[in-house]
Amino acid sequence: MSRCTYPWTVTQYLPSSLAGASAFPDAVPARTPGAVAVPGKKILLAAPRGYCAGVDRAVDAVEKALAHYGPPVYVRKEIVHNRFVVDTLSQRGAIFVDETDEVPEGARVVFSAHGVSPAVHAQAAARNLATIDATCPLVTKVHKEAVRFASGDYDILLIGHDGHEEVEGTQGEAPEHIQVVNGPHEVDQVVVRDPDRVVWLSQTTLSVDETMETVALLRQRFPNLQDPPSDDICYATQNRQVAVKKLAPRCDVVIVVGSANSSNSVRLVEVALEAGAGASYRVDSAAEVRPEWVADADTVGLTSGASVPEILVRDVVTRLGELGFGEVEEVRTATEDIMFSLPKNLRSDLKSAGERVDRPHRPRS
Ligand code: SF4
Repeated sequence: MSRCTYPWTVTQYLPSSLAGASAFPDAVPARTPGAVAVPGKKILLAAPRGYCAGVDRAVDAVEKALAHYGPPVYVRKEIVHNRFVVDTLSQRGAIFVDETDEVPEGARVVFSAHGVSPAVHAQAAARNLATIDATCPLVTKVHKEAVRFASGDYDILLIGHDGHEEVEGTQGEAPEHIQVVNGPHEVDQVVVRDPDRVVWLSQTTLSVDETMETVALLRQRFPNLQDPPSDDICYATQNRQVAVKKLAPRCDVVIVVGSANSSNSVRLVEVALEAGAGASYRVDSAAEVRPEWVADADTVGLTSGASVPEILVRDVVTRLGELGFGEVEEVRTATEDIMFSLPKNLRSDLKSAGERVDRPHRPRS
């Protein structure tokens, strides 16, 4: 744990894609002039928080594609589930579409960090689209597990949220073998062909505790249920949940920065409440923080989902500063230094043009 009071230096807290990236504002006021700190009111700032390696890479891929090929660059679905990131990239020339048939024949399209099914790859090939696949490698790992277990003729129980892009992509790898289990309440409805040939996999951004509850119930029904070869809930999701669990019992209120469609951000609110926070709210930006939420609070916890640029967290710190919270104490439970290289096609195009393909390593929050 470390203590710090404002002002911070901006770059100290910016994750890699944003520090020095022209697409995003690289500075916000550290404190609104005139804000008065009230003794005893403090912010507990979770670490790790914010950008994970998969999001960092996906956003970087779109930025580099825009710089290298020039706009427009089409992106299927939101590149990551964050409104600020999508709006900012749109202003730079990215065009977000729902499906590949909205992309002009022969144009360039980026697939989002959440991954796509083989059918989407086939549709893109049929339209002669140049693709850049920014699927997070940790999602690709789950796709490969699904293919492997399907080829072994397993029934695959995919724990996740029906309709989420990541779940659709994974399910599309072996639709005839995969059924989605939305949570503990759906375990009773699961029907399998052979109870001795069943495996569970999961979406990468779920609540660890709820997923384990679902698995335990599944195992009661299918004692020979096989586990995935390694954790499907990714390191970033787990780390952010561990950090918020640690600070939540000390907090009157926990604020989570993240968009409503960001699964891991929504999970952080649930985890904070389960871990003992008096209340917890998700906000897209500082403007959504309501003074009445924190009026009677002494300690406010603050964290952000894996698709959230640090600048949005800084804005919330500034906002809380205006509301009297002058001290910031970091609660760190892990340090992350994972970095993924750019998608293959993009890397080779940059290389051929003599452009740099390495990605500067900067410490994450
Ligand atoms: S949350 Fe996890 S799986 Fe999703 S993009 Fe980030 S690192 Fe990859």
